[in-house]
Amino acid sequence: MNRILEERKRVALVAHDNKKAELIEWTKYNKNILRKHQLFATGTTGRLVEEAIDTHVTKLLSGPLGGDQQIGAMIAEGKIDILIFFWDPMEAQPHDPDIKALLRLGVVWNIPIASDRSTADFLLTSSLFHEKYELQIPDYSKYVKRNNF
Ligand code: PGA
Repeated sequence: MNRILEERKRVALVAHDNKKAELIEWTKYNKNILRKHQLFATGTTGRLVEEAIDTHVTKLLSGPLGGDQQIGAMIAEGKIDILIFFWDPMEAQPHDPDIKALLRLGVVWNIPIASDRSTADFLLTSSLFHEKYELQIPDYSKYVKRNNF
């Protein structure tokens, strides 16, 4: 069963502390595009983005307090279309298991994920970012119906 992503995308933004400046700069550079979409973010990232580009961001909990898990749950429920997640490759985080879970759920549900700025640039400049798009949901029916245990 596939899912239609509308023209106005629901975009989740997350950045680890060492990556926040880079994400904020990216959002400022792209503010006119981002303002046309619906933005969600973990707590601190959301506050900074809201201040930087002066648009409403739905703020969840701070990442280490459960924000990554909240976004993961929203992806599983079909409430997030795109994940821009600038995670820090140089430093372990207290919530590493949550980060892994978030990235995993993004792949489970086949949503576009950008983990760095160049991928985010490619995503944002894709015409699909601004058009209706039929997202292919992998077929998990065999898994759901399994009873071989
Ligand atoms: P933060 O969380 O936006 O609240 O800093 C991000 C994260 O570390 O996952």
